[in-house]
Amino acid sequence: MSIQYIQENLRMIRERIDQACHDCGRDPQGVRLVAVSKTKPAADVMAAFAAGQKLFGESYVQEFTDKAEQVDTPVEWHFIGHLQSNKAKYLRGRVRMIHSVDRLSLAREINRQWKRIDERIDVLVQVNLAGEQSKSGIAPQEAPALARKLSELPHLRVRGLMTLPPFFEDPQAVRPYFRQLRELSEEIAELGLPGVSMDELSMGMSHDFPVAIAEGATLVRIGTAIFGARETR
Ligand SMILES: *Cc1c(COP(=O)(O)O)cnc(C)c1O
Repeated sequence: MSIQYIQENLRMIRERIDQACHDCGRDPQGVRLVAVSKTKPAADVMAAFAAGQKLFGESYVQEFTDKAEQVDTPVEWHFIGHLQSNKAKYLRGRVRMIHSVDRLSLAREINRQWKRIDERIDVLVQVNLAGEQSKSGIAPQEAPALARKLSELPHLRVRGLMTLPPFFEDPQAVRPYFRQLRELSEEIAELGLPGVSMDELSMGMSHDFPVAIAEGATLVRIGTAIFGARETR
């Protein structure tokens, strides 16, 4: 995509984020835009960076490591896709946050990898609210117990929850899922677990992010509306 196209899209998305915050009385500083660059070339990342976008999300390990090598600007990477435990090592030291922790075995492996570099990694627990077979994520009723286990892993900081809700044409139809994620996050915060802060909610994508913001999103993950439609992988 052309640099102008990406930069104009970014400008419009930022305006819509500000508007959504204004509409519900939130401070726009409390919502960060994760530009989802999966399937897009490094040049697109650098074009967005030139327009002030510092934070990017990627979903596929191999694609991410290849791309990160080509991007020569200091971007902050978040990993947002399904992660196999044996691939966590490729993310070690390269990503600031992993949005998709949904099982203890994966969390233990991430902990093991970040121990090697003596750092702590921010993670989110991915929750599958509608029990969709096709999607990753832990069932909501099991999330508090998982958070309790993750709390014992010294190289993880559990910052909050993430969800990928069912798709509805009408973004308002997604609202109950966003609300449910916020309520679940409040429930886990009340447990007062060490190392579990629950101050981040990763929810909302290109077509429904204003609704997610109204329900408390602090990280919105937006791909298509910035970089254009993706090639199918
Ligand atoms: C691809 C992807 C997004 C971005 O979706 P768009 O509809 O293109 O904005 C957000 N979150 C996750 C987990 C994704 O895989």
